[in-house]
Amino acid sequence: MLEPMPPDNEVERQRDLDQLHILDTPADPQIDALLRIAQRLYGTRTVLVTLIDGDRQWFKGRRGISLSETPRRLSFCGHAIHHEAIMEVQDALQDPRFCDNPLVQGEPHIRFYAGIPLHGPAGHRIGTFCLIDGSPRQLSEDERQSMRDFARLIDGVFNALLLYRNLQRNLQGLQRDLSDARRRALLDPLTQLWNREGLQQMLSSYVRRAQRDQLLVGFIYADMDHFKRINDELGHGVGDQVLVEAGQRLIAAVRPQDLAIRLGGEELGVLALVSNHDQLAVIAERIRNAIRADKVVVDDHRLDVTISLGTAVMQADDVDEGVELIDIADQALYAAKQAGRDRVVRG
Ligand code: GH3
Ligand code: MG
Ligand code: MG
Repeated sequence: MLEPMPPDNEVERQRDLDQLHILDTPADPQIDALLRIAQRLYGTRTVLVTLIDGDRQWFKGRRGISLSETPRRLSFCGHAIHHEAIMEVQDALQDPRFCDNPLVQGEPHIRFYAGIPLHGPAGHRIGTFCLIDGSPRQLSEDERQSMRDFARLIDGVFNALLLYRNLQRNLQGLQRDLSDARRRALLDPLTQLWNREGLQQMLSSYVRRAQRDQLLVGFIYADMDHFKRINDELGHGVGDQVLVEAGQRLIAAVRPQDLAIRLGGEELGVLALVSNHDQLAVIAERIRNAIRADKVVVDDHRLDVTISLGTAVMQADDVDEGVELIDIADQALYAAKQAGRDRVVRG
């Protein structure tokens, strides 16, 4: 196996990546949407947006894989960032660089790989858009052209995220500026939503904003319906993929300023500032619809998935540590389950 060498400009390359401030950030609905289109277009098992960071490659977007990162030394993308051109490995078993790679010899048994570099604000190659499959194949010229188009679009999203971040900081963004390491500890690696600890960290700035703008603090407590069945019938791996997809749909359904959370297991949550309870219920309904509207596709399975939700709102001055707010939403969720699931109940 040939381990990827760092490129000559590794220091500048890493700095360019760091300046984007997108490592260990929540899933992005636009990148997820592009990856969904790519997966449908190419029909490959896995499509990724990878970032090559130090000794790891971290996935900013992913479909068909539950891992959030892998070691750089095993990565195909570590090779792909050496050149501007598409790197295509039609059959990894026939390629001396990769034939004895553990990702080829063992799970996930990579045979086909095609990766095209993505760029940071200063133009360095910070990662790739890549396609991976378990069977050998060859890209057509049209497919190669589409890869270049995807790369251009994803570079555009990176740029927009950077602009948005700067704008948010100027507006004293709700989601605090945390160090990369701190943020990593507050993100759930499977769904790329904030974890419970992340919610606790962010709560005080939401409460302050609510006081300032005379808004109510709202909380949505959501729980996937009959999730155990999916695990029991199709395995934990499929269950994980459904959770990833549910997280992506939830993020796409809420407003950018809302905090999307994985509370644990198959329980999700949203912290949102609203003028009244109706507004929060609208967001909750949007989530419910986003989960049930289209079947969740995992490998060859097409699953009908639903979610139950409970909502609660409180005056900012009463929120305190948030225990009661969350508890009221949880009780409403319980009522939604009792009433037959796939519904929103107000607490
Ligand atoms: P209900 O509609 O009443 O919520 O039914 P349910 O089956 O969703 O609820 P229950 O609490 O009985 O089961 C939740 C299941 O979620 C059990 C657990 O194995 C599964 N689960 C929790 N965390 C994960 C995870 O990270 N991955 C996977 N695949 N499954 C998980
Ligand atoms: Mg459940
Ligand atoms: Mg549960």
